[in-house]
Amino acid sequence: MPLLIDQLGRKIDNLRISVTDRCNFRCLYCMPEEGMEWLPKEGVLSFEELERFVRILAPMGIRKLRLTGGEPLLRRDLPQLISLLRTIEGIDDIALTTNALLLAEQAAALQESGLDRVNVSLDSLLRERFEQITRRDALDRVLRGIEQAAKTFQGPLKINAVLMRGLNDAETPAFAELAREHGHTIRFIEYMPLDADESWSRSSLVTGAEIRERIDQHLENGTRLVEDPARDQRAPAADYIFSDGAPGKIGFINSVSEPFCENCNRIRITADGKLRTCLFSQEETDLAPLLRGGASDERIAKAVRMAVHDKEPGHRINEPDFVRASRSMSQIGG
Ligand code: SAM
Ligand code: SF4
Repeated sequence: MPLLIDQLGRKIDNLRISVTDRCNFRCLYCMPEEGMEWLPKEGVLSFEELERFVRILAPMGIRKLRLTGGEPLLRRDLPQLISLLRTIEGIDDIALTTNALLLAEQAAALQESGLDRVNVSLDSLLRERFEQITRRDALDRVLRGIEQAAKTFQGPLKINAVLMRGLNDAETPAFAELAREHGHTIRFIEYMPLDADESWSRSSLVTGAEIRERIDQHLENGTRLVEDPARDQRAPAADYIFSDGAPGKIGFINSVSEPFCENCNRIRITADGKLRTCLFSQEETDLAPLLRGGASDERIAKAVRMAVHDKEPGHRINEPDFVRASRSMSQIGG
């Protein structure tokens, strides 16, 4: 079976699966406070449909899966899906991105079903600011989820943080200390224009370079961030370690200031079965009618191959004629 390679020669081996568009938070850089319209239940792909889809894609080179949303832990019986995906030959890594509200209760079942890793999103260590960002007073529960996940899953826990100027960027040193104290990897993801409220502006963006500088200034006794020798140069995250040998890492995903589109190896499927070849795609390939309408595996494979062939060269955020994506982050599956 030929591999999934686009017209620019990028090999696609990474699939992000959105298992729901619903969420128990309303992060201001992602969702509106009110008025989100959810997909009808019957519009969301079933576990069987998702399993079949991944079985079709694995022989085409898909190796890594990430379950996301919306909030993936809101999807009922999620461990069942993971068990199904785990049996697919060729899939060697299954990860999940979560806001961790429900993680303390679910971590063990997720791990037992075959989940390899979780990434937790956390944008503030202060209760009130956490509530301001997520619009939920839930920091304590999230911290409990993080603690449980660190105990349950092997390897360092990865925590994603989005900093916005004037809102939570003053917490940069606190995040560095969190990494040093617990051995977590804190990944700073640059704020992207994917918020439903359309309030993103270049002035609210705090670049990875600036965050790195602030951490270096905060560290004492000549300690600095130094490039992680284990870093995969093709991966989107540039990981750094502390020069004094303290545990923990700091990673930067500089999607806006240093785009990594030329190495992009990802595609996404939304909860309602639309294939997206870029976060910022203007167009989608609707696979639900094929998955539900009796199309053969070959027909579905062909539709994916055609979409991948035309994968966007890059996201164009920095171009004067940039056009926002056709959906916001929680509807795409970040
Ligand atoms: N609900 C889960 C969570 O928050 O981890 C999974 C879905 S969420 C859309 C996935 C990731 O996208 C989160 O780490 C979140 O911080 C990030 N994200 C959402 N909107 C973003 C934006 N406008 N810019 C950058 N990252 C964003
Ligand atoms: Fe929900 Fe995640 Fe979006 Fe926050 S970032 S609103 S937790 S989907």
